Amino acid sequence: MLSDVNAAGTSLDHDAIIIGAGASGISALVRLRELGLRCRLFETGDGPGGAWHWNRYPGARFDSESYSYGFFFSPELFAEWEWKEHFSGQPETEKYFNYVIDRFDLRKDMQFSSRVTAAHFRSEENAWEVSLASGERYRARWLVAGVGPLTLPQLPRIEGVQAFAGEAYHTARWPKHPVSFEGKRVGVIGTGASGVQTIQEVAKTARHLTVFQRTANYCAPLKNGPITPDEQKQVKASYEELKRRVNSSRAWFLHTPVLRSVFDVSPEDRERFFEDRYNARGMGIWQGNYMDLVVDERANALISDFMHRKIRERVRDPAIAEKLIPWDHGFGTRRVPHETNYYEVYNQPNVTLVDLKATPFKRITPNGVETSDGFHEMDMLIYATGFDAVTGAFEAIDIEGVDGQKLKDKWSKGPVTYLGLMVNGFPNFFMPAGPLSSQGNIPRTSEYHAEWVARFVRYMDEHGLVYAEPKLEVEQEFMEHAREAQNRHLSSRVDSWFTGVNTNVDGRTERRVMQYRDSADEYRRRAEAGVASGYEELIKR
Ligand SMILES: Cc1cc2nc3c(=O)[nH]c(=O)nc-3n(C[C@H](O)[C@H](O)[C@H](O)COP(=O)(O)OP(=O)(O)OC[C@H]3O[C@@H](n4cnc5c(N)ncnc54)[C@H](O)[C@@H]3O)c2cc1C
Repeated sequence: MLSDVNAAGTSLDHDAIIIGAGASGISALVRLRELGLRCRLFETGDGPGGAWHWNRYPGARFDSESYSYGFFFSPELFAEWEWKEHFSGQPETEKYFNYVIDRFDLRKDMQFSSRVTAAHFRSEENAWEVSLASGERYRARWLVAGVGPLTLPQLPRIEGVQAFAGEAYHTARWPKHPVSFEGKRVGVIGTGASGVQTIQEVAKTARHLTVFQRTANYCAPLKNGPITPDEQKQVKASYEELKRRVNSSRAWFLHTPVLRSVFDVSPEDRERFFEDRYNARGMGIWQGNYMDLVVDERANALISDFMHRKIRERVRDPAIAEKLIPWDHGFGTRRVPHETNYYEVYNQPNVTLVDLKATPFKRITPNGVETSDGFHEMDMLIYATGFDAVTGAFEAIDIEGVDGQKLKDKWSKGPVTYLGLMVNGFPNFFMPAGPLSSQGNIPRTSEYHAEWVARFVRYMDEHGLVYAEPKLEVEQEFMEHAREAQNRHLSSRVDSWFTGVNTNVDGRTERRVMQYRDSADEYRRRAEAGVASGYEELIKR
């Protein structure tokens, strides 16, 4: 414990309550425990890993390089753990999370199968009262919600969605028992990042796979592979270098944009560069490309055209290739799924693509799916229809700040935060990797947040303070900055979860500011300026 200001000596159950056992919650637990705080972490699932606990669908894996995704807080951990693949699959990643919590003896402060239903700020105590679905209640000075940006699965709005009598799964609630596709007629609804990973796997064994596509996405090769013993040695030797690289990149990835315009190079050099990025491992084609591709329409048209050509080269039937080409948005303006032989799946005789723009859903029946041009009989339906993203998991908790204000009401037109980390009117409350925080390679963001929060809590304790919230004008200024940064990007003109549009969720047809689109550097500059000023941006007492 830091001191008796916020620990023993009060009637609080804990110093800090943390929600969520994903990368964000675990990072926060590690850092706050280092301060000696009495912490309790609550998690809905029955194990750690967050996204990697829930998304156990076949083919689920990282798009971030494994060694750039894992925790960096311990050089010893980095040296010990051997990632098997450059982009780890879900089973291995779930093992990693279990290894980490046992390695650092975190399990004793974690409570699984414990969903937080409400968190109310009690002004008389300057503390949060947190309620669980079981009815248990706990009070703590600090509340850290690491509830995740992609947490609440969303089903599509289709008549009869619950009527299907065969096997039905959502990718983000995949069962722990094995699921076989062999000899079955399987329908996959959705072609975002999870859908693409699922489709590649199901196509291998299903008797017939029908892919229902509403929005075609630009998919780019992942080029995954095992990490060879030599590569393993190089990875192990590069801990400091890796840290330096991700910290100096734009979005905390190993890839970062080239600081040149695509118009500064000859068409031949440009083509060579695109080709090189397309064939290289990981997200380079998206995150490590010319800097103007995602902000300038003319530049974007060049990379979009390149990607269109790639789809036409890889898909034999020109009519199917045209359906797989995204005509309604430019490359990189929505989440780019990374794939392994995804386009080749459509050359297989056991795979059919249904373009829902041309032939929309009519209804789901006990036996299958009816679209405007006919009936598709199915044995299994897989919903790869994503999430109530970014704000959904926060709004699912009844979070009440000072004077009875509800977070859900404050965010009724979109999230409003300071640094994506704190909210005016909701004191002593932190959201690692929260809405409008620096995005990209998320564990890097949330590890930074965990450090920031720990430094701040230490400061509060050293100064005998027990209450902190961002000033309203500071929050407004940050929101203006975030809005301006989002509007600079072409993605701001596209409906997607990046801009908060989700036709499957009520009231979510208007675009919102959801993510921080300026660089990680600018983000840290702002966050550190606050620290240097003695947290002048915050009301403290
Ligand atoms: C399939 C998939 C692949 C991805 N790949 C990448 C990638 O390669 N790179 C990358 O950077 N990001 C990736 N992401 C994004 C992913 O969300 C983040 O990497 C990371 O999981 C975020 O960590 P987190 O701890 O903030 O949230 P999560 O990992 O989502 O963990 C949040 C946890 O909070 C729990 N929780 C939520 N609400 C409550 C409540 N009320 N009570 C108790 N517990 C609660 C949830 O059950 C969950 O376990 C991927 C996401 C998915 C779904």
